[in-house]
Amino acid sequence: MSAEVINGKELAAELKLAMKEEVSELKEKGLTPHLTVVLVGDDPASKSYVNGKKKASKETGISSDIIELPTSTTETELLQLIDKLNHDQAIHGILVQLPLPEHIKEQSVIEAIDPQKDVDGFHPINIGRMMAGKDTFLPCTPFGIITMLKSRDIQIEGRHAVIIGRSNIVGKPVGQLLLNENATVTYCHSRTKGLQSFTKNADILIVAVGKANAIHAEDIKEDAVVIDVGINRVEDGTLTGDVDFEQAKEKASYITPVPRGVGPMTITMLLKNTIKAAKGLEN
Ligand code: NDP
Repeated sequence: MSAEVINGKELAAELKLAMKEEVSELKEKGLTPHLTVVLVGDDPASKSYVNGKKKASKETGISSDIIELPTSTTETELLQLIDKLNHDQAIHGILVQLPLPEHIKEQSVIEAIDPQKDVDGFHPINIGRMMAGKDTFLPCTPFGIITMLKSRDIQIEGRHAVIIGRSNIVGKPVGQLLLNENATVTYCHSRTKGLQSFTKNADILIVAVGKANAIHAEDIKEDAVVIDVGINRVEDGTLTGDVDFEQAKEKASYITPVPRGVGPMTITMLLKNTIKAAKGLEN
């Protein structure tokens, strides 16, 4: 039987509708969540992501602004700007679009953002809070993945989740979130030997490699839940994930498509984090 496709675009639209109501209630109480996005340089992909974030904010009533800086901006100048934004009471969320130009150390910038305004969830304090299972800003893509699983009441507890990819923004945190939900978690990466022996044992398979067709039907277990995080532009210009969707959907129980899968959820979770930032974290 063909898998149930979890459409991230539709789920994101539902969540945004609910957030719009929440934002409107906050506004009535005099609190308008505000997101400031900082873009350094003129990378077209980054520009398009940033504009997407502004558009999505507007849809939910969250106010936002984009601060565009030239590629020549020094690390000191950027850190000074972040310090100013950290102290601005009207700004609840700060996001510095990555990647940054090579002469700026990303980690220094991530650590300069006030953890209470770190809506990307990349600050070490927030990563630590996530590991400890405390209230925090969850990194947006892993947060989106967990939300997709929960939207279909997919059982996580006691199941074997296999993550392919160990980046700081996707692989590592999604594994931690699944562990927090009582899954048994295995991480795979480019040095993993016998990848298929792990993937074939996965009840929940998260693929975040960045290579088109990295995973085929023969790599997955019957009735597995398959979450495809990859975004790859192929020769004909279209976008595709890391999983051979057409084949895999005949074997999986649930699967996410690309596009209209994890991608739209990522921005939506940023909005959720911005609302959370406006309300303040719990201890
Ligand atoms: P990275 O390049 O940082 O990480 C890729 C990971 O895949 C690494 O851990 C790497 O291992 C592993 N890997 C590479 N080749 C293999 C292989 N042959 N077998 C097993 N593991 C392998 O990518 P990201 O995590 O940032 O992103 C992954 C994909 O997800 C990309 O396509 C990206 O565009 C997409 N993405 C999508 C988002 C969304 O919103 N949908 C958000 C963020 C990313 P090693 O560590 O050993 O190098």
